[in-house]
Amino acid sequence: MPTESRRFLRHFIVLYGSLLAFVMVGGGMYLSMSNASQRAAIEAREASRVNREAQVMAAILASRSADAAFLAARITDELDAQYVSSHARIVSLLWSFAEIKSGYLQARFLDAQGRESVRVDNTPEGPRLVLDDQLQDKSHAAYFQKGTLLSPGSVAVSRFDLNVERGEVEIPFRPVLRFSSPVLGADGRFAGLVVLNLDGEVIRARLRQAAVAALGRPFLVNEDGYWLLGPAPEMEWGFQLGERREMTVEAAWPGAWERIRSQRQGQFFLDDALYTFDTVQADSAIGVKTTAVMVPEEGWMVVARVPPELLVPPLTATFMILTAGLVLLFGVLSWLWASSRAKRDVIQAELADSEARFRAMSEASQDALVMTDDQGRVAFWNRAAERMFGVSRQDMEGRFLHEVVAPPGELDKIQTGLRKFKRTGDGAVVNAINEHEARRADGASFPVELSVAAFRREDRWWAVGAARDISERKRAEEALRELATTDGLTGLLNRRRFMELGEAEIERTKRTGRPVSLIMFDVDHFKKVNDTRGHDVGDVVLVSLARTAKDALRTVDVLGRLGGEEFAAILPETGLEEAVAVAERLRRAVSGMGLAPNGEPLPVTISLGAVQGQGAGETLDDLLKRADEAQYRAKSAGRDRVEQG
Ligand code: GH3
Ligand code: MG
Ligand code: MG
Repeated sequence: MPTESRRFLRHFIVLYGSLLAFVMVGGGMYLSMSNASQRAAIEAREASRVNREAQVMAAILASRSADAAFLAARITDELDAQYVSSHARIVSLLWSFAEIKSGYLQARFLDAQGRESVRVDNTPEGPRLVLDDQLQDKSHAAYFQKGTLLSPGSVAVSRFDLNVERGEVEIPFRPVLRFSSPVLGADGRFAGLVVLNLDGEVIRARLRQAAVAALGRPFLVNEDGYWLLGPAPEMEWGFQLGERREMTVEAAWPGAWERIRSQRQGQFFLDDALYTFDTVQADSAIGVKTTAVMVPEEGWMVVARVPPELLVPPLTATFMILTAGLVLLFGVLSWLWASSRAKRDVIQAELADSEARFRAMSEASQDALVMTDDQGRVAFWNRAAERMFGVSRQDMEGRFLHEVVAPPGELDKIQTGLRKFKRTGDGAVVNAINEHEARRADGASFPVELSVAAFRREDRWWAVGAARDISERKRAEEALRELATTDGLTGLLNRRRFMELGEAEIERTKRTGRPVSLIMFDVDHFKKVNDTRGHDVGDVVLVSLARTAKDALRTVDVLGRLGGEEFAAILPETGLEEAVAVAERLRRAVSGMGLAPNGEPLPVTISLGAVQGQGAGETLDDLLKRADEAQYRAKSAGRDRVEQG
């Protein structure tokens, strides 16, 4: 995979991964917080709903008990009054009660022996008085036998069960609750029982109504754990119907019944479902005040269960859209960022690479490499420059180059040059190789060969220069020139150089019209020196002669060795007479040298010819020829003398 894609992928994964983690953590926190608050709200709502239903049922029981107690009291009054036809008055009382009060299936008065004395049935068409021959004996019914034991003002509340007619459960099922209250005779003894059969649907309908829009529908169970109003009709009345014997709360909600029955009210979680329960309390009905004392035959509880799936709030569409939007947005942002980042990385890597190569090259260079801006401020300074000029890179960067390395005398010229460079990118040193004097930090100056090029960047001119220290080369050149112009033995000018300088001098005198003279001289009998004393001694003679001649002449005089033991000197600004005098002085100086190489004295003499230049048209060669002739005459005339020509 190419580098850029790999970098892109890495950047993308890192960024998008963290953003996704952020979204997940944030979303998770939001959900768990909203779950927790939702759950707390559900718990509170369930508790209050179940509690309210238990109280509503207690209120129903209390008010219905009050009905029974009231009727019992009224019938007791009738019997006390010993009216002739108390039976007719009891009929009238129960009939009008049944007509006015709804919810009762039957209103009855049982006599002291347990026979139905008066019975009013409530039918869809209204109350109906049951005829005497259809009245039954209820002396064996449990509610009658318990009713005989009740104290006045008490009301027995029967079990909540299905109505039984002649030993059979009535079909369709008719749930019923019986309220019985004793009636006393004039003698104060038990004279009968008022029995009100309340339609059980009054209570069940109320609970069903409360179940609407509830998370956990409130159900009714009796103290044995059987459903009186259950999750399904076929689960109800298990205590009464043989085939439903197993239909208990425990069977429907395994594990829950143990906990429900152990407390009057409460709330708990079991297998992630929320259970809430409350007991219907016979003595604490809210909103009903009565002196009737209720004696319930069994206890009841309102229970509700919220299944786990209803406890977790469904993800809202807003939340889903928001999350999906964030995931998508972060994806796009990560993509854009990662791709630009990857591109930048690659460029940076390439840049670093080329920078490294450039540095390696510039550091390896023996030439000082310098870059300056258009005002001469140093922007780059390599190691060779540090060595060459004795200034470190840190000290140099940002400083004006010329103020450090140029000879002070050239600053004005450089300033002018820089002004032009700033405008045009051109100048005397640009695109050329020149030699300059440069200055080191310690003040010493040295020659450099400088090549400069200009380039444009960031809308201004920049200069790059390579400076090479050419001190060595200059020294070598100097040595070479020395070698080429002087005589190795005596250090005097050689013939070629003598001729050059001599011709220049003659040319000069032609222009100025000043006199010039030439002296030529040759060692006398030098062969003999060589032959008798050796060639080395001959050399010593030549060296001594050269020094003596140089001492005898002025610095402006041009003295050269023409070859062998022949010498010549050009005397500027000198006429013949003076030249002859100089020659004579020279002759004496040589003959008086008093040489004694190897300890043995060695007399040396020279013969000289002196001539004066004749001006226009005469060359150095002509002059030399005349001097040679004069010298020849000196030889012929006996040597160690001066002849003029
Ligand atoms: P004259 O008085 O007539 O000049 O006699 P001379 O012996 O000096 O004769 P000439 O000038 O012809 O001789 C030159 C001699 O100088 C010949 C050569 O051996 C000798 N000679 C030339 N160059 C050198 C040199 O560099 N060193 C030495 N030792 N001898 C040299
Ligand atoms: Mg000679
Ligand atoms: Mg000679």
